[in-house]
Amino acid sequence: MQENNKPESKIIRFDKCPNCGSKKRFASDMAQTVKDRGLMRMELEFWENIWQGVVRDVDPRQEAKVPFGTKVPTFYVCVTVCSDCGTIYAGKMVEDTTTKQLPQATAPTDKLINPISSS
Ligand SMILES: [Zn+2]
Repeated sequence: MQENNKPESKIIRFDKCPNCGSKKRFASDMAQTVKDRGLMRMELEFWENIWQGVVRDVDPRQEAKVPFGTKVPTFYVCVTVCSDCGTIYAGKMVEDTTTKQLPQATAPTDKLINPISSS
C-alpha cells in the first residue's frame, strides 16, 4: 500500500506479515494495552525499531562538493515483528528530502576545566 504525506515524500506501508498474512504486530499489540490505559496517545504509531539515514556518497570529499541548500534524499524504515510467526519485516518505509545546512556550532568541550583532574 502507498500513501503520500507531502508532495516530496513517499510512504509505503505493509499492514500484514509477508510470511503468514497476520496483522498482529508484537510491539504494536503491547502499545495498545498502554493506550487502552490512557498512558499513550491513541494516534501514536509504535515500532520495534526505526532505521533512518541520508542517501549520500560515502566519501566525505564528494559530500563536501555538495553546496549548502541542496535538497538531498532521506529515508526511514519502521521495522516490526509478526506476533504469530516471528517474521521481522518493514511495516512502513518513507522517502523524503532534507536540505544540506551549515553544521551547528557547539561549545568546545575539551576546553572545560575538570575540577578533579590533577593536570
Ligand atoms: Zn507472520
